[in-house]
Amino acid sequence: MPSELIHRYMRIDHLPQIWCPGCGNGTIMRDVAAAIQELIDDPEKDINRDNIVIVSGIGCSSRAAGYLDFNSIHTTHGRAIAFATGIKFANPKLNVIVLTGDGDCSAIGGNHLIHAARRNMGLTVIAFNNNIYGMTGGQYSPTTPDGDVATTAPFGNVDRPFDIANLASGAGASFSARGDVYHVRETIDIIKEAIQHKGFSLVDVYSVCPTYYGRKNHKGSAVDMLRWQKENLIPTARYYSMPEEERAGKKLIGILSYNDYPEYTEEYAKLVKAYRKKK
Ligand code: SF4
Repeated sequence: MPSELIHRYMRIDHLPQIWCPGCGNGTIMRDVAAAIQELIDDPEKDINRDNIVIVSGIGCSSRAAGYLDFNSIHTTHGRAIAFATGIKFANPKLNVIVLTGDGDCSAIGGNHLIHAARRNMGLTVIAFNNNIYGMTGGQYSPTTPDGDVATTAPFGNVDRPFDIANLASGAGASFSARGDVYHVRETIDIIKEAIQHKGFSLVDVYSVCPTYYGRKNHKGSAVDMLRWQKENLIPTARYYSMPEEERAGKKLIGILSYNDYPEYTEEYAKLVKAYRKKK
């Protein structure tokens, strides 16, 4: 992370951080800080530091809420979106950003994810997706590809994986996108769009976990895993200019779905106002 961002947005007394060398979590945390900085510094955007709340659950990635120096809360496993929903309801003016892992948001927290998406709660969820439970020793998560090896799947995982961005979109999210840790500039821009979106926004950021996922699945070093992202995850403009046959096996980095459904807390406030008027 550039030193300007470190001194402006990190709790220096919490360093050094616990993440392994080569882990993608630091890159995603930096992307979130950079996106926030660019929005705060833009006089045309109505975003300020005091109105930002960072909420996380449990897992390697969820440590980011402690490292970032905002109003922040590190909650219980799988419940980050539930806590964030309460915070948004209590004060709808806040920009509530959830930092969560693939296990945290799509396994134990899967129910909270789909219902926040369905309601179009005005939250931004950044999923640090490393395809495994890193903190607890490498168990398979809902995004571990089938056939891949994990501590709890020594002969290969037979579950089919979730695509978190498509899951959110299918559940009714009004903004769903995919980023990664190789395409830093594109991912910062996507996170900026997500934070500014009024309804529920989700960015599924493909991370790298060289320690558990990479090592168990012979993916090479962190650099090799980044090289794979460079070659297989393709930003929007290039993706759509590629011939159909070249897109096979590649994934798009960018906004996957977008609409302007009414935001939940605004609709709720209208109901309350109408009820009070009637009384
Ligand atoms: S176990 Fe994996 S996800 Fe956790 S800090 Fe290490 S590299 Fe990162």
